[in-house]
Amino acid sequence: MPDRRLPTLDLKRNYDRVRNEIREAVDKVLESQHFILGPEVKAFEAEVASTLGVPVAVGCASGTDALILSLMALNVRPGDEVITTPYSFFATASCITRVGARPVFADIDPDTYNFKVDHVLEKITPKTRAVIPVHLFGQMVPLETLAPELRSRGIALVEDTAQAFGAVRHVGGEIQRAGGVGDLGCISFFPTKNLGAYGDGGMITSTREDLAKNLKSLRVHGSTATYFHDTVGINSRLDEIQAAILRVRLRHLQEWNEERRQAAARYALLFREAGLMEWVRPPVEAPGNTHIFHQYVIRCEKRDALQAYLESEGISSRVYYPLCLHLQPCFSDLGYREGDFPEAEALSRDCLALPIFPELKEEEQEWLVSSMEAFYRK
Ligand SMILES: *Cc1c(COP(=O)(O)O)cnc(C)c1O
Repeated sequence: MPDRRLPTLDLKRNYDRVRNEIREAVDKVLESQHFILGPEVKAFEAEVASTLGVPVAVGCASGTDALILSLMALNVRPGDEVITTPYSFFATASCITRVGARPVFADIDPDTYNFKVDHVLEKITPKTRAVIPVHLFGQMVPLETLAPELRSRGIALVEDTAQAFGAVRHVGGEIQRAGGVGDLGCISFFPTKNLGAYGDGGMITSTREDLAKNLKSLRVHGSTATYFHDTVGINSRLDEIQAAILRVRLRHLQEWNEERRQAAARYALLFREAGLMEWVRPPVEAPGNTHIFHQYVIRCEKRDALQAYLESEGISSRVYYPLCLHLQPCFSDLGYREGDFPEAEALSRDCLALPIFPELKEEEQEWLVSSMEAFYRK
């Protein structure tokens, strides 16, 4: 057994920085005994809306529900097609089949790992009702040509912002914020996300005020007045305790995202200094983007052997994602085959997510990089 360990994420170190503020916030909710859709959720919704510069933010129970509620609010239904990436967390595609529609995939860019807008445009058919870009690992998909193109064709843009709260993109003197560009944006507050709760949670943001009423009704069983139902919705709320915790953590998020960026820059520097670039490709930040490094995902030679070696040294790493969405057994009826999305498939074979979190120490990164050096030079 190695005598020291490096996890991919250490939430305890983060809690140590905010313990008192969190306890105070949770205690306030406990004293109020108001747990569902109370003042904390309302205040947090307003804070998220102002952070992203959108008129609408609606809390819900998870990022997955945010996606499902978004497609429900847009009335996406059986027979419709929704275009997204084959390279993401499962929920990005499952929300589409949950509402009865068909996921259509568009291959990714090998540098940024996000779907390529050109490929998306090629997949549009008369059945296309929505497109879901995923700002994967914390950097935005360029939406400046996609958004107007979709708008002109009446196709909705639903951003999957689960991994990118706080990511921005500079477009010709303007700042675009992840979750603030499309018709709808879907945020996850799963505990491992950059803005994580201490349990499940999610939120839908929207640039369209006309969708607010519908979203708020859908999260309470489709009712507009208690016990009166115009539509069939679901039960999906962000609770007061999580909202109170998230309000505390939102105040620190910019600082924490900046610390992640510094850690990412240090990895890239250490790889170069160690002469590892022959075997390792660090993630690429596209021009104009401010990547918030929800994950730090490299491409590397001999991925599985490297991962096993690091594990034997006490260093954890993860594979996001080992199997592309189009190849998942549950989607076999969609008729996709291996080879359909070569860039995504190649990434699933050589990607490796290294430890990254705001409190990651310089000496831990040096330890990891020297272990990688030992592996490749042996
Ligand atoms: C985490 C995640 C989700 C789902 O969020 P949950 O809160 O876990 O339901 C959706 N899409 C992406 C890209 C994610 O990373």
